[in-house]
Amino acid sequence: MQCAFLKNVDYLMIAIFILVKYFRIYRLIYWLKNLQLNIKTMKNWLFIFCFLGINSMIFAQDRPLQIIMIGAHPDDCDIKSGGTAALFVAMGHHVKFVSVTNGDAGHQSEGGGMLAKRRIAETKEVAKRLGVSYDVLDNHDGELLPTLEIRLQIIRKIREWKADVVIAPRSNDYHPDHRYTGVVVQDAAFMVGVPNIAPDTPPLRKNPVFLYFQDNFKKPNPFQADIAVDITSVIAKKLDGLDAHQSQFFEWLPWIGNYESEIPKDKAKQREYLLSKRVTKVNPEVKKALEKWYGKEKAEQINYAEAFEICEYGSIPTEADIRRLFPMLGR
Ligand SMILES: [Zn+2]
Repeated sequence: MQCAFLKNVDYLMIAIFILVKYFRIYRLIYWLKNLQLNIKTMKNWLFIFCFLGINSMIFAQDRPLQIIMIGAHPDDCDIKSGGTAALFVAMGHHVKFVSVTNGDAGHQSEGGGMLAKRRIAETKEVAKRLGVSYDVLDNHDGELLPTLEIRLQIIRKIREWKADVVIAPRSNDYHPDHRYTGVVVQDAAFMVGVPNIAPDTPPLRKNPVFLYFQDNFKKPNPFQADIAVDITSVIAKKLDGLDAHQSQFFEWLPWIGNYESEIPKDKAKQREYLLSKRVTKVNPEVKKALEKWYGKEKAEQINYAEAFEICEYGSIPTEADIRRLFPMLGR
């Protein structure tokens, strides 16, 4: 999307070059072989061909990116990449959050269908605040298994969104729902392009780039920060998204973590609490990635970031691909 005008000028120059070059070649063929070619008709065809070619190139370059982030619960994507989502949306791209379970077990005194409804309402509020689309799949919380049924649900979601980038957890995690979400998304990579699998939903013609959310688990292997996004400018937006999950950040998680008494009553202080408790600090590994993508000087000024690791089962992006798929990184 950035510098689209300059790119369009480039394409125009290439098209003019092709027109001039090939007109000369056809004239030469005509002269040499004395063919009965109608140059005027050929000119018209070449003009139409180049016009369509230029348009398709411009369209391919300028269409918004389609990003899908898949978490196990109706707050996972928000925690892991709410800031990156806000940046994509601000640049005109399309982001979908998917929760693979309906969150119906995530509370100390509520549960079942009523809790699921409450949590779906919270995701709708997040969708409004962040400008994303938010889908909650109707699978029970705390009981997720990496079955074929769930894999097909994920394949359909990725296809329907025509995803360029898919982001999900790694399969190293303390929570079984997170682990199995990681597994089913890995299982969906490649399969999203196989027409005989889930044939009711058209396959993707290109395997998207699959990425993992950042985590702190070390075994069997630690998270590798291949990409890091500066979210300092949208940190307030990220907090807006987290704040919508009242049932989680102000009730359930403090209860299960035994820190209920730390939750401030005051709204402004609640945001400070979310910032200190729920926003991951920039660690040395992520700092290194920030230096790579933004340069040393800029990286020094970055207070908040979200990092991602490249999954080997999707398309493997080059550095140029990553800058195209994450336009907030700049050139
Ligand atoms: Zn979760």
